[in-house]
Amino acid sequence: MKPVISLHTAISYLKGVGPQKAETLQSELGIFTVGDLLHYFPFRHVDRTKHYKIKDLKPDLPYVQFLARVVSVKEEGKARQKRLKVLVKDDTGTIECVWFKGASWMKKTILPGRVYQFFGKLNYFKGYLSMPHPELVPYAEMVNQQQTALEPVYHSNEKLNRKGLHAKGFAKIIKGLFELHSLPLDIENLPSYTREKYNFPDKATALKHMHFPPSAQAYEQASNRFKYEELFFLQLGMLRTKRNRKKSIKGFVFEETGELLHQFYKEVLPFDLTGAQKRVVKEIRADMKTGFQMNRLLQGDVGSGKTLVALVSMLIAQGNGYQSCLMAPTEILATQHFATFSEMLAGLPIKLALLTGSTKAAARKKMLAELEAGEIDFIIGTHALLEDRVKFKSLGLAVIDEQHRFGVAQRAKLWAKSEGNPPHILVMTATPIPRTLAMSVYGDLDLSVIDEMPPGRKPVTTKHYYQKDRLALWSSVKKEIAKGRQVYIVYPLIEESEKMDYQDLMDGYEAVLRDFPSPQYKVSMVHGKMKPADKEFEMQRFVKGETQIMVATTVIEVGVNVPNASVMLIESAERFGLSQLHQLRGRVGRGAEQSYCLLITDYQLSKEAKLRISTMCETNDGFEIAEVDMRLRGPGDMLGTRQSGDLDLKVASLVHDGHWLKIARDDASQIIAEDHELQKEEHQGIKKYYNQGAGKKSKWGLIS
Ligand code: ADP
Ligand code: MG
Repeated sequence: MKPVISLHTAISYLKGVGPQKAETLQSELGIFTVGDLLHYFPFRHVDRTKHYKIKDLKPDLPYVQFLARVVSVKEEGKARQKRLKVLVKDDTGTIECVWFKGASWMKKTILPGRVYQFFGKLNYFKGYLSMPHPELVPYAEMVNQQQTALEPVYHSNEKLNRKGLHAKGFAKIIKGLFELHSLPLDIENLPSYTREKYNFPDKATALKHMHFPPSAQAYEQASNRFKYEELFFLQLGMLRTKRNRKKSIKGFVFEETGELLHQFYKEVLPFDLTGAQKRVVKEIRADMKTGFQMNRLLQGDVGSGKTLVALVSMLIAQGNGYQSCLMAPTEILATQHFATFSEMLAGLPIKLALLTGSTKAAARKKMLAELEAGEIDFIIGTHALLEDRVKFKSLGLAVIDEQHRFGVAQRAKLWAKSEGNPPHILVMTATPIPRTLAMSVYGDLDLSVIDEMPPGRKPVTTKHYYQKDRLALWSSVKKEIAKGRQVYIVYPLIEESEKMDYQDLMDGYEAVLRDFPSPQYKVSMVHGKMKPADKEFEMQRFVKGETQIMVATTVIEVGVNVPNASVMLIESAERFGLSQLHQLRGRVGRGAEQSYCLLITDYQLSKEAKLRISTMCETNDGFEIAEVDMRLRGPGDMLGTRQSGDLDLKVASLVHDGHWLKIARDDASQIIAEDHELQKEEHQGIKKYYNQGAGKKSKWGLIS
């Protein structure tokens, strides 16, 4: 029996890890202990028993090996530029192997006419496949070489490399660890019923098999176990938070429906709520009656009618004697919400206010006094609402629109604005995110989804054009304008190339003015550098139909509602992300007429840009688009930097492991239901691990 080693043992204790290596492991990878090292999983294994045929080599195969005969050995370039090009062939084709370093030495070593085993990573450049710096073993010697079936490959970097911590260096140290030691039994953190159910190896075996699996199947079982573990503890953490909050944070009880809501339904609202809106309103009402604080996320595609749900919820608060606020990320949006609310509530005795950065001092002072006195029922605004001087008499409900633009800390500020209990919180987002992502990031919120569009909407037709098609494009735009419709023309604007982007926008604007001459055509322009008042003025001209064309940057991205607009023309569409394109498209198709989204791109497109454009042309479904977007960008990027920290997944992938996520979530919620204090004997392993900090954040540092 080998001696047991604790996972907390310092790595310098291990054979082959001297003070220098230990130092580097700590500073580069945050690996301090044996446990840290064991959780530094290889990112892949190479099957060293398999040999590829040259014709089957593809750019996206990472590490491969093949057997081939050397055809020619050529040295090129001089001195530092010197490189060795070795052409090799098998019975299916040829490929070139290249050495940039050690060319002279290799030239003496590698012999034309001989067969070698080549092992390495392929390089693909300008349609040309080669293998730089392969490892090679003469065929004749291969019989003597013992080849492990699955060899681990670890991420490394230059610093690590220099200390001998390259892929093989890691393998050697970890192999040595398992040869000399055994792992303690009490590191098991999953109940035996779970391991049996999913055929998971025990923890110690799983750790070993992550590095040195005896078979591909053994690796899969081990890696499934770690995926599960990671997702399970994350979900357990979120579900516990949610449960505790739901049982501990008291909320105002809104029993009443309220007179005005009845009146609004009966006399004001010109249409019925959609089935989805009704369902969501019901969910919200149920939340607001429980006596605990509501924390609900409302997801719904652009134009699905979230604003109306917000308004109805706010009417419920009002009917129970409470004020509410609606916070939007931009001034334009806040202003538009205010206009919509003013119109919808025109006949009702509701006092509305709008507070933004450009509210004049005198008006603001009066407004804040009225708000504190409880005279204002609904206040709509931007971040300005978060300022300390904004005080309510009785804030019962806070609605946050496009919540991905606000940070958690900002949301928390709203909490403090009501006395006694925190307000009920409804956050709305028009950026559909895949279910797996929603469960992971918003797992501690309740989730409502509006998955149905108001009736009578025609799906927007999306078409892709190249720059050279502009004449045809302009003529279809003119046709739409002739029918009385309005048109958006949107330019990309990204920080890194802001100056050039503004130039493009201005050039574009000039071109539009030329091609759509006054007085027949009238053109507005809105961009981020304009003063808020000018922006508002231009926006209003377009909203009122005084101008037919709106040239803009993405400031119009969210929320703006002009039902008469039927064309969304997007310049340099390849530079936009998928969800952004989808958001922009949501600006049209709000009326009853057929609407169009026209994507203009360069002729040369990257593979990803092509996929984005074709996805847009193929579907209008925001959730479908979100799935593709997540696959392209990864979950972290998709959410934006603000929230990606919440998603510190190391082994599991939200893109590929959706089914494990669901299983882990179901298991976690069952445990919460039956044993939320984790008192049962079989849950002691979970409890111990959880209390060490799992479920808040992954415990082990890895580079991704
Ligand atoms: P979102 O905020 O989800 O993007 P909005 O709330 O702005 O969508 O709604 C888009 C448009 O649909 C608005 O003009 C709104 O008046 C209209 N609308 C909302 N709900 C309905 C409904 N049930 N029936 C018909 N039209 C609706
Ligand atoms: Mg909206």
